[in-house]
Amino acid sequence: MDKTKIEEMKEKLFYNPKHASEVISESEVDAADGFCEGYKEFLDKGKTEREAAAEIIALAKANGFTEFIPGEKYTAGEKVYYNNRNKSVILCVIGKRSIIDGVKIAAAHIDSPRLDLKPNPLYEDSAMALFKTHYYGGVKKYQWTAIPLALHGAVVLRDGSVINVCVGEADDDPKFVITDLLPHLGGEQNKRTLREGIRGEELNVLVGSRPFKDDDSSEAVKLNILSILYEKYGFTEADFLSAELEAVPAFKASDIGFDRSMIGSYGHDDRVCAYPAVMAALDAENPDYTVMAVLTDKEETGSDGNTGLNSSYMTYFINYLAAMEGYDGYEVLRKSECLSADVTAAFDPTFPDVMERRNSAFINKGVAVMKYTGSGGKGGTSDASAEFMGKVRAMLDNAGVVWQVGELGKVDAGGGGTVAKYVANLDIDVVDIGVPVLSMHAPFETVSKLDVYMAYKAFSEFFKQ
Ligand code: MN
Ligand code: MN
Repeated sequence: MDKTKIEEMKEKLFYNPKHASEVISESEVDAADGFCEGYKEFLDKGKTEREAAAEIIALAKANGFTEFIPGEKYTAGEKVYYNNRNKSVILCVIGKRSIIDGVKIAAAHIDSPRLDLKPNPLYEDSAMALFKTHYYGGVKKYQWTAIPLALHGAVVLRDGSVINVCVGEADDDPKFVITDLLPHLGGEQNKRTLREGIRGEELNVLVGSRPFKDDDSSEAVKLNILSILYEKYGFTEADFLSAELEAVPAFKASDIGFDRSMIGSYGHDDRVCAYPAVMAALDAENPDYTVMAVLTDKEETGSDGNTGLNSSYMTYFINYLAAMEGYDGYEVLRKSECLSADVTAAFDPTFPDVMERRNSAFINKGVAVMKYTGSGGKGGTSDASAEFMGKVRAMLDNAGVVWQVGELGKVDAGGGGTVAKYVANLDIDVVDIGVPVLSMHAPFETVSKLDVYMAYKAFSEFFKQ
């Protein structure tokens, strides 16, 4: 057989995912770069679940969505949003088909690993004022020291009024920091494991160091901080008890690389799937099936809580849609399909040992489909059926979406979960699909622009089915 014939056979018979730029046109590369400008803005505006939810609702309103009223009847083409406690949002466009044919769901999460303030956070030690924190989600604690931090969140006063706090994002805003030990005195610390290098109780955020004027009593620095907070926001130390304040990295999203092919930012996991899902929902005009983008909270802590997908808020929403046509929710759920839109680990050539190359996702090879997540012997995963994988595969190929498969590292190396299993437990067909991320869960994560765009294309196509 001649050489070209063998090459042809290889092309036909081998599975060989390619770099997206080899497959798509130059104009599509430009479209991807353009799409990512909006994404970077979204990243900077929505660093917390509350801010992301507010931004998503603002985008939805600007695109003709109205607030969902339970019990109301909606007709084909109508666009509604459901605000669950300001922390999770459902965007829904009513389809032309009957609801009994099922709904198409793209579910992403808008919470990210971070440091929450403890209920009673403020203390003074050695004439410095500090906040005690409790980390949220899976963090490598040492990564959170000696970087600029911003403080975001809400404080509820005794009278019920809500004070929104955001300090450290404007250029002239003060920032905050968690101090680390200098290497000169790090001898003992160096003997700790990396996991213990910085301990949970050492994640204390430095917030001030000057005493209250004319005060030589104890805790004058703490008093000064409380006096500044009282002047600016009108809250006292007791008001921290009814607050959700989150320390997040203060840096902004930026292009990475001489070729600007990547984006570095805090919180790609999972805004990098949430934003494309939102954009796909905003674009959905008169879809065939009813489509929903579900932007959920609490994924990073296991999806528990009434704003997480292990609660019933999405089911109840679908029950309302079913009731509009006189059906029960379960009749709709079992016919529904979901893309669980969450990130996966990208192969990192610096740390190849934890990955199995043939089943790893690589940046720039498109959006990654994960048949299953979980850990060990497929513990804690819903494992999509071959039939649903086949359906999604055909959809992506037919639409020219560049995609690949992914697995979260070697079989025995670790693992992780997503919202997919909670969706599957509702009797919905679901598979994980998302953007590969480098340094996932670090304060500054990296993704490829082409992959972000392919996620958008995938969700758009799903909503057109
Ligand atoms: Mn995630
Ligand atoms: Mn995560």
